[in-house]
Amino acid sequence: MGSLVLAEEETSSPPQIVSVPKMSLLKISEKDDAPIVSSYNDRIRPLLDTVDRLRHLKIMQEGIQLPTIVVVGDQSSGKSSVLESLAGISLPRGQGICTRVPLIMRLQNHSNPDPELFLEYDGKTVPTDEKNIAYAINLATEEMAGKGKGISNSPLTLVVKKNGVPDLTMVDLPGITRVPVHGQPEDIYEQISEIITEFITPEESIILNVLSAGVDFSTCESIRMSQRVDKTGQRTLAVVTKADKSPEGLLEKVTADDVNIGLGYVCVRNRIGDETYEEARAEEARLFETHPQLSKINKSIVGVPVLAERLVKIQATIIVKCLPDIVRKINDKLSANLDELNKLPKHLTSVAEAMTTFMNILGYAKESLRKILLQGEFDEYLDAKEMHGTARLAEMLNNYFDEFQLNKPSANHGAITNFLVDEIKVLEEAKSIGLPNFLPKSAFHTLLQGKVSLICNKPVDFVEKAWSYVENVVITVLLKHSNSYPQLLSGTRRAAHNLISKKKEQSVDWVNDLVQMEKLTDYTCNPKYMVSYNKLMSHYSEFVKAIESYDSISIGGFGVIDVDDLHGKPKGVVQEAFDLKMRITAYWKIVLRRMMDNMALHLQYNIQKLVNKEMQTEIINELIGSQGNGLERMLEEPPSISGKRNKLKKSIKLLKESKDVVANIMDRVVDNFN
Ligand code: GDP
Ligand code: MG
Repeated sequence: MGSLVLAEEETSSPPQIVSVPKMSLLKISEKDDAPIVSSYNDRIRPLLDTVDRLRHLKIMQEGIQLPTIVVVGDQSSGKSSVLESLAGISLPRGQGICTRVPLIMRLQNHSNPDPELFLEYDGKTVPTDEKNIAYAINLATEEMAGKGKGISNSPLTLVVKKNGVPDLTMVDLPGITRVPVHGQPEDIYEQISEIITEFITPEESIILNVLSAGVDFSTCESIRMSQRVDKTGQRTLAVVTKADKSPEGLLEKVTADDVNIGLGYVCVRNRIGDETYEEARAEEARLFETHPQLSKINKSIVGVPVLAERLVKIQATIIVKCLPDIVRKINDKLSANLDELNKLPKHLTSVAEAMTTFMNILGYAKESLRKILLQGEFDEYLDAKEMHGTARLAEMLNNYFDEFQLNKPSANHGAITNFLVDEIKVLEEAKSIGLPNFLPKSAFHTLLQGKVSLICNKPVDFVEKAWSYVENVVITVLLKHSNSYPQLLSGTRRAAHNLISKKKEQSVDWVNDLVQMEKLTDYTCNPKYMVSYNKLMSHYSEFVKAIESYDSISIGGFGVIDVDDLHGKPKGVVQEAFDLKMRITAYWKIVLRRMMDNMALHLQYNIQKLVNKEMQTEIINELIGSQGNGLERMLEEPPSISGKRNKLKKSIKLLKESKDVVANIMDRVVDNFN
């Protein structure tokens, strides 16, 4: 461990520092400059440089926050004056809004007695000097935020290399104004508070809250804002200015700490009027030494030199604390971005390449569809139930069969009346010259046609529904696979739609044929027909008895039948009608199952044809056939993709540079600060 402890908790405890950086600025004599470049500063410098370089690279744009000391305060609380005191330069000062953009102040001690100052903004570096600094800042501010009194959130960096300044980087933010002054936008308060919040919210920010000694701290807008993002105050340090103007009760104010300042208070007196910095420091020292009230305040919390020392230490602590995280975030972001870049579609440069890619897309889509619609493998769409094609189609088919079955006469509750009425009517009309014990074939047909007509729309509805479903699945899969080439999307979608429409039409024709066939011929070789007919007929004698005794009767499949109406009807008529009904009943079961079976086979066969062959042919025709120029279009990369690629490349470059910046420093952090 070095001579200096930089543990986290140290920032809030009294300094246990062994080698305190001496700030020549803070001394009247310039004689002892040498010790400033203390070992402490030497060790802090590379860390701070690293952070500053990262800031320069604009790594914040990648969402990686840097440890930053952010200066906030109500307007005219003395923020600019405090920064002046720390830097020994003149900043635009005074009434009204002066700081209109975030000003990143980078103080750097250097051995050359001649100070070196420059501004950096909008990618420019503009050298300046102490005399012109206020003017130069105003000029730059005007360039960035316009001439009026508006504000902007893009920062301006001021680098001050001066002998004796502490190595510190701080961000000065626009002061908080409640009421817009003439020329300021109406929502100035919201604008400023948005900028301040943006800077002080990250956990990596230290909030330097500048408070004027004359005000009630608890009413300060800047205190309210910092309390909102730092409830316990653990990363807030208060600087109390204008101690000279309002010395009364200051000691009580800073000891009572009504506003939860976790890192403590430092009371200062800034430069007044035309004083030089040296004079100002001497006055400050004298004030806290001799003033009857101010002299009672503990020397460890008064004066600009103490402030400088505290800030340097706090800064070192947060940097040491944050750097490992920053390194990790840079690495994570870098690999995520590289991944994403690799996943972007290849930029195609020749028709041959486009052709290969296109055929691959078709191949992948075909494979996916085969799995979903034919094999029942859903690994690509585990959570998307609607894409589980085989299961959904089977479900549809089952529902369709249930609907068919609902047409059974036994569906209504209670005893069935009017039993055999239709059959008797049909038989009446089928009378012809012939032997009485031949059941007229035309009667059976009439009944069969009536029954088929009742259900003939259902199969048509079903195939339409089934194909609509298949269309959705096919389009979803195709779009997924051709997603990287937006040029292909509309053509692919069109092809799929056209093809399915054709398939739908064919199926409807086929189903209509099926229905017509059932109407035309009554035939089955299924032995079940005879079995169930005989079983039904075995109830006949029971049935006749029931008619005679005015009883109701229950026959399997029909339910309870009220036969009173049949009493007194000629026996032959009842017998013929009963026979007819049982034939049609037994046969109808066969018809329904036959339709079901056919429909299932038809659908499966046609989906297979679609997936294995037709889809591909249709898409090829649409996209690269006679009028299509899909392959050529694939060569033109859409702006969305090229934009994304460029953005990623830029971000990767930035992250790589950042990685280089932090590469060496980590060893030093470990060596020097542990
Ligand atoms: P800012 O708006 O927060 O940046 O405040 P400024 O730094 O511009 O200061 C506002 C006014 O308060 C200026 O006129 C300063 O000279 C004055 N001022 C700042 N600090 C002190 C101080 O410690 N003592 C005295 N007497 N005046 C100060
Ligand atoms: Mg200011």
